[in-house]
Amino acid sequence: MTITSPRLTLNNGVQIPAIGLGVFQSSPDETVTAVEHAIGHGYRLIDTAASYFNERQVGEGLRRSGISRDDVFIETKVWISDYGYDATLHAFNKSAGKLGVERLDLLLLHQPLPSRFDLTLDAYRALEKLLGDGNVRAIGVSNFMPEHLQHLLAAATVVPAVNQIEVHPYFQQTALQRVHEEHGILTQAWSPIGGITSYRGGEKRTFDEPTLLEIARLHGKSAAQVMLRWHLQEGRSAIPKSTKAARIAENFDVFDFELSSDAISAIDALDTGVRGGPDPDKITLETFKKEVPEA
Ligand code: NDP
Repeated sequence: MTITSPRLTLNNGVQIPAIGLGVFQSSPDETVTAVEHAIGHGYRLIDTAASYFNERQVGEGLRRSGISRDDVFIETKVWISDYGYDATLHAFNKSAGKLGVERLDLLLLHQPLPSRFDLTLDAYRALEKLLGDGNVRAIGVSNFMPEHLQHLLAAATVVPAVNQIEVHPYFQQTALQRVHEEHGILTQAWSPIGGITSYRGGEKRTFDEPTLLEIARLHGKSAAQVMLRWHLQEGRSAIPKSTKAARIAENFDVFDFELSSDAISAIDALDTGVRGGPDPDKITLETFKKEVPEA
C-alpha cells in the first residue's frame, strides 16, 4: 500500500501535502531519479526553484514516474535576478516551460530584496496577476522576515499562502511563525531535518543531537523522522531533501507514530537562535546575481 501525506489547507482553500521532496543541491541526474523514487514512495509534493537549475529534471522525473499532473503539487521559486513585473511574469514562463507544465501549484518569491523592495513588490504583483489569470493555484514568499512581510502586506492584494523559511530544531523562528499564524500564512520549513547544520560542516549537527536520538530510540525511528514528525504535529509543511532512495523512503515514513507533548517541548527547547542560511537582509542583486536560462 502506498503511504500518503496528510494535507494542509492554504489560505485560499488549495490543499498542499504536508511533506514533500526538496531538490536543492541535487544534481540534474540525481534529481530525475530522486523525483521518480519519491513519487513511487507516495510523495505528492516537489519543491524546486529556478536557481537550483534542475526544474527540467524535476519535470523529467515526474513524467518518468507516470503520475498524472493533477495528482502532484509542484512548487518553484522566482530568483531575485528575475524580479520586476515583466521579468517575473517571464520567469513563470521559464519555470513552467522547464517543468513541462501549464500551471504551477505554488510559486514563491525566493528571497526578499531589502535594498530593492520596490522590485520585490513588482515581482509580487506579477505573482498576483499569474494567480488571477489561473497560471498558478497559490502564491507565496520565502525567507521573508516579519518586517518584509509587514511591507508586503501593506502593498499586496493577496496575502501570501506560504512563507518558506529555515526551521529545524536548532533554528525555529518562533516569532516569525507567530506572524504567519496571525495572517493565515502557512510556515513551510526548509532544511527541516537540519541538513544545513550538516552539509555546511557545522560543529553541531541535528542528526547527532542526543535529545532527538533518545526520542527516536523510544519510537524505533531516526532523528530525521522525529524532526519531521515534530513539524507535522506543529502544523508546518516540510520538504526534506535526499537523493538516496532509502532516505527518501525513511523521510516519508513518519505518519504512524505520535510524539508526546513532553517530547515536543524538549525539541522546542533545542532552539539556539543561530541561523544556518544567509541573513535575508544581506541578499542583494550584486552579491547573489544568477542568470536563469530560458526554457
Ligand atoms: P534538509 O534538512 O532536507 O537535509 C538534507 C541533507 O540531509 C542532505 O545532505 C541529505 O543528504 C541529508 N539527509 C536527507 N535525509 C536524511 C536522513 N534521513 N538521515 C540523514 N541524512 C539525511 O536540508 P535542505 O537544506 O536540503 O532543505 C530541504 C529543501 O528545502 C531543499 O532541498 C530545498 O528544496 C528547500 N530549501 C529552500 C531554501 C530557500 O531559501 N527557500 C534554502 C534551502 C533549502 P542525501 O541527499 O545524501 O541523503
